[in-house]
Amino acid sequence: MSESIQPKAALYIVATPIGNLADITGRAIEVLKSVDLIAAEDTRHSGRLLQHFGIGTRMTSYHDFSEDSRVESLLQKLSSGLSVALISDAGTPLISDPGYRLVVRARAAGITVVPVPGVCALTTALCVAGLPSDRFVFEGFVPAKRAARIKQFEEWLAESRTLIFYESPHRILECVEDLLTVFGPDRHVVLCRELTKTFETIHGDTLGNLLPWIQSDSNQQRGEFVVLIKGAEVVQSEEISAEALRVLEILLEELSVKQAASLAARITGVKKNLLYQRALLADKA
Ligand code: SAM
Repeated sequence: MSESIQPKAALYIVATPIGNLADITGRAIEVLKSVDLIAAEDTRHSGRLLQHFGIGTRMTSYHDFSEDSRVESLLQKLSSGLSVALISDAGTPLISDPGYRLVVRARAAGITVVPVPGVCALTTALCVAGLPSDRFVFEGFVPAKRAARIKQFEEWLAESRTLIFYESPHRILECVEDLLTVFGPDRHVVLCRELTKTFETIHGDTLGNLLPWIQSDSNQQRGEFVVLIKGAEVVQSEEISAEALRVLEILLEELSVKQAASLAARITGVKKNLLYQRALLADKA
């Protein structure tokens, strides 16, 4: 059953397509046509979308660097009874996109905030990646600088849920190199590129195979990416003997996680990555 939407004085958070324009919802078009104002991240970019759907609603710009006065002005319009729709360049606003500040302030001011859901790159990727989707972690964009990115990846080593993040084409190659360095050749990773667009590619493999694959084809380094990492195998204590655990615990008192795991592996013969994951858990406890 579909219900006609009568925009009232509310802030509508409207998802738009991430590639294929046919992915916009009927409700999104209806809302965008009927509101008094559309706040868009980039009015020129969104102008093309609105034109495509014959939407003539007035636009104003709103982004993360908008001054407080811009937020105030939108809140005043909403308080005076106007309806406003927020859209970003693609997908769902607030998901690695502007809008958080506006939503917080609107809700605090008692203004109704209405979701108009639709496409989001992260859920689009997750539903086709073939990785566990019952529990997952979304990390937005990873740091652009290599040292910070590697540090971030190291913090994720023992995470057993599927890890998802966004990456730009300029860094995708370096990013896969760093993933291989930190997670090793056996970890399964899926790259979702240009989702819903002409060159859509969903490619999953172990990092040992994924790096040469992406290195050998520059086309695979172009476009927009969602990266998904299979979570760490949960280490059962039984796989590590009591003696190995004892050695690891003693070494952890004196050494870093990496050094302790490496030395414990040499002493006990247990696989280094099992001990490393175990040591990370102990370190966080
Ligand atoms: N709000 C958007 C959403 O709902 O997913 C995300 C905005 S964020 C600024 C843009 C990033 O999302 C891109 O750099 C890319 O990592 C990812 N992304 C957006 N569209 C995509 C697509 N069609 N295919 C793959 N990744 C995409």
